[in-house]
Amino acid sequence: MADAVAERAYEPVIGLEIHVQLKTRTKMFCGCELSFGEDPNTRTCPVCLGHPGTLPVTNAEAVHFALMIGMALECELAPRSIFHRKNYFYPDLPKGYQISQYDVPLASGGRLGEIRIHRVHLEEDAAKLVHAGTSGRIHSAEASVVDFNRGGTPLVEIVTEPDVRSAAQAKEWLELLQATLRRLEVSDVRMEEGSLRCDANVSIRPAGEASLGTKTELKNMNSFRFLERGVNAEITRQEEIVRSGGEVVQETLHYDPATGVLSPLRSKEEAHDYRYLPEPDLVPLAPTEEMLARARAALPELPAGRAERLERELALPPDVAKLLAFRTELGDFYEATVSAGGPEGDPRAIANWVTGELLARLGDADPDPAQSKVEPASLAALVAMVREGAVAHSAAKEVLDTLVAEGGDPREIVESKGLARAGGDELVEVVERAMAAQADAVEKIRAGNDKAMGAIIGAVMRETKGRADGGEVQRLVRERLGDQPG
Ligand code: ADP
Ligand code: MG
Ligand code: ZN
Repeated sequence: MADAVAERAYEPVIGLEIHVQLKTRTKMFCGCELSFGEDPNTRTCPVCLGHPGTLPVTNAEAVHFALMIGMALECELAPRSIFHRKNYFYPDLPKGYQISQYDVPLASGGRLGEIRIHRVHLEEDAAKLVHAGTSGRIHSAEASVVDFNRGGTPLVEIVTEPDVRSAAQAKEWLELLQATLRRLEVSDVRMEEGSLRCDANVSIRPAGEASLGTKTELKNMNSFRFLERGVNAEITRQEEIVRSGGEVVQETLHYDPATGVLSPLRSKEEAHDYRYLPEPDLVPLAPTEEMLARARAALPELPAGRAERLERELALPPDVAKLLAFRTELGDFYEATVSAGGPEGDPRAIANWVTGELLARLGDADPDPAQSKVEPASLAALVAMVREGAVAHSAAKEVLDTLVAEGGDPREIVESKGLARAGGDELVEVVERAMAAQADAVEKIRAGNDKAMGAIIGAVMRETKGRADGGEVQRLVRERLGDQPG
């Protein structure tokens, strides 16, 4: 009996709750500009400081962004939603309540990739507590001060259905969501800066079981790596509890990425009864036809659709298509290069050059090649020259070095630097000289040791400064040994 329990396979079930800071010009309900590292408490006014007698006014740009998100996530948009007051005390919440949407969210019932979206709603961010004299651990802080600059920043909360089945899938899906929101240009979506924040709800159930197990909630993991690690740690913890005959307790947990320890947040912080009540100072949110049309018109091609199109139309492998689709500028540069290459061009070869050699030379973590000195037409011309055999692959990399450093026309660079592919009598001479100088390597090749070919190719490459084609060198060597090609 105990053995049966111990051996049973469990299936993780995960639902994500994501908070996205919108990059509107001003805050959700007042005219304060959003803060990006300004001095503390310089972006405040009586409204976002919760002074009595002040009145909130809904930010139209935030509503526009939220509608775009709802549409991008294929949600049903509510014809009329209202704001509520979510009441609780915390020093970062001067009004004593957060204005948020409750029973009727702005959008619901959507999907992104294989994960269904439960709801999308608008709310305001809390201010920021700064715990002085510590590394930021609330419990051991000597003193805490409040920076109200963040208070009132527009937030969109996105809640998924419990459709995620592994920590890796959670991470991958959050990357898709991030790329999608970045493409919409509604948020900076930087986890490390808190403009994208993710809580994970985790439970396990016996494989094949339809009902859900008791869930725990992991709060605010601030990187993709920690999200994956935290969820995996929690799945393991729950499996150990269940296998040893225990029961998972519903609670909120903090995952410490430094130690890998999951610890419950104090129950006092958890025991919420928010006493939601309709916000009497705000009119209902009822998007007009014009607002909907404007949001629809603002929707660009999204990463998931772009990846699919690149795979379908240009026959790119899925991982390459995804890389180009998730990084808008890289994808734009790639498509511009394909266009410049014309109907004779090779989209797959161009994709390899853009995602490989070019990306490696641009340095930056997320570079925009359009800001570099390389023109799409020059890269297209270079790839075509490699394809036609006018320049060898290794020499082409040298041409690309020059394009990145100085720009210019690859044909002229090849000419002026003498990088044209070595061929004809010149190459035959170099190959024969290399073979004569390395008689032992030649003997090994003759004896069937193909690895020895590397020594000859290397010597030819040194002599021609990379202008030779490795395949052609091999062919010439074999020809000289009297081998049949193939
Ligand atoms: P709560 O009322 O505790 O906030 P919700 O029903 O609103 O719970 O769900 C919050 C999130 O938790 C959603 O993303 C949902 O998909 C997910 N979720 C709900 N139940 C479970 C479960 N048993 N296991 C894993 N995730 C769950
Ligand atoms: Mg909830
Ligand atoms: Zn303000």
